[in-house]
Amino acid sequence: MIVGIDLGTTHSLIGVHGPDGPRLFPNAHGELLTPSVVSLDGDAVLVGAPARERLVSRPGQSVAHFKRWMGSDRETRLGDRVFRAEELSALVLRSLLADAEAALGQKVEEAVISVPAYFSDAQRKATRAAGELAGIRVERLINEPTAAALAYGLQQRDEEGRVLVLDLGGGTFDVSLLELFEGVVEVHASAGDNFLGGEDFLQVLEQAFLAEHGLRADRISPAERAQLLRRLERLKRELSQQGQCSLDITLAGQSRAWQLDEARYAQLCEPLLQRMRTPIERALRDARLQPDALDDIVLVGGAVRMPMISRLVTRMFGRLPLRHINPDQAVALGAAVAAGLKARDQSLQETVLTDVCPYTLGTQVSRRGADGGERTGYFHPIIQRNSVVPVSREDNFFPMHDHQTLLIIDIYQGESPTVDRNIKLGELRIPLPGKGPASEKGVTTRFTYDVNGLLQVEVTEHASGTRHELILEQNPGLLSPVQIQQRLAALGNLKIHPRDAQQNLAVVARLERLYAEYIDQRQTLQEWLAQFRSALDSQDLPRIARDRDELSQALDTLERSP
Ligand code: AMP
Repeated sequence: MIVGIDLGTTHSLIGVHGPDGPRLFPNAHGELLTPSVVSLDGDAVLVGAPARERLVSRPGQSVAHFKRWMGSDRETRLGDRVFRAEELSALVLRSLLADAEAALGQKVEEAVISVPAYFSDAQRKATRAAGELAGIRVERLINEPTAAALAYGLQQRDEEGRVLVLDLGGGTFDVSLLELFEGVVEVHASAGDNFLGGEDFLQVLEQAFLAEHGLRADRISPAERAQLLRRLERLKRELSQQGQCSLDITLAGQSRAWQLDEARYAQLCEPLLQRMRTPIERALRDARLQPDALDDIVLVGGAVRMPMISRLVTRMFGRLPLRHINPDQAVALGAAVAAGLKARDQSLQETVLTDVCPYTLGTQVSRRGADGGERTGYFHPIIQRNSVVPVSREDNFFPMHDHQTLLIIDIYQGESPTVDRNIKLGELRIPLPGKGPASEKGVTTRFTYDVNGLLQVEVTEHASGTRHELILEQNPGLLSPVQIQQRLAALGNLKIHPRDAQQNLAVVARLERLYAEYIDQRQTLQEWLAQFRSALDSQDLPRIARDRDELSQALDTLERSP
């Protein structure tokens, strides 16, 4: 069985392609969205809603937003263990797979996983490693905008078209231009802002609230601030549905009321809306397209529910965007469609998915200035950003000096003219025959970037015809196959709490979180916790279910009151 997975920064989803089209599976809490949060509980692991609750009550054991560290060596300490981003992602994947397997009644062996179009080689490999660590084969990685287009069925159109996909998630804004023709989808340009997302729109609300009440964020306790942010998040979502909303909250022992309407909120967010224009304009410029050359604009990511986003797009393009598929689910549904295409590939060979290389790839070169002086550190692009993959390009390089015996080919990715601001991926050291003029001793360097985001660098030295190849496994930020096996064994010692325990764990985690946040209600919360623990100890399932429901309702009421 092959599934489609959206492994998101804030949420993850899993689905398959069935006879009636793509469908998503709920987790143990009945939700399609599983928060991408992991929390360690002794030798056991919590994933999703209970882990998210523990971000407040057990911050040292819980972690979120680790997708941002994929492809880096950054490690997170949870309790007395350390984890890489691939391992944390693997734990989320394991939990999603358990949900899919519970619904399907069979084992899942393969998956198509979506990744942002701008993900680098190392980030893509880390995503594949996460799949391996979760015990599945990653059949392919699909770019998120391509997945969104598949969810809308845009690849099935007869005529060719150009589609702009705008994805405003919790922390990132991704812009991709897709070309569609005869069932083929190509990502033609991608741009984005890695530091712009729904969270920034929440920040605007927080700043405005604090300013209006003469408060400072660093003067309220972390627990009160967490509570304020949760209330503002709710307000933000309500504002997407209603013109006017209000908030009543007690901070530093004083009750604070606030009212806001959507028009005023949009005004406050104007600087963020301006920032959204930059990557949109860049993607169009890279593709050499005018705004009226687009056939459709697709909005995905939870934050596009804010009406101001549709208004911005309508103002920029003079037409309404497509937004009728739930924007939280579009990428996952598309990954499920891709999984379906893969499963039936004999019959659907005409549908080819192609992507682009997200960054410019090239080498470091030296240049001679007008004064004859030699300056090193220049970036020489070989594969330009947004080239359609697979792509293979070559270029010739010559040593700077006669009798030079070594040529170093440094491989970089990035968009800066000098290498110091780009990212070094690796280097090849090519011995040269010592004798003879520099002009006769060059090398041909070939870069090949494939659909899975793998970069191969081949250097052929002219004089001897010797071939050299770059071994990308030596890159920082990646695990070797041996390390993957070791980590797999280490992760094997961690058990994920069984699905049937998840709802109870979430209630306990929520009680603990509220205890940390609500000073005045601590005694009540502690009594409720003790009662619920004794229900759990009784192992009387109907009683546990009854207590859990009653408690959840009481906690809902508590959280809604000021
Ligand atoms: P994602 O990464 O796609 O899960 O995006 C989540 C982001 O979407 C968060 O910043 C949410 O606050 C935001 N979001 C979700 N629903 C709404 C809504 N109804 N109105 C405004 N923002 C929303």
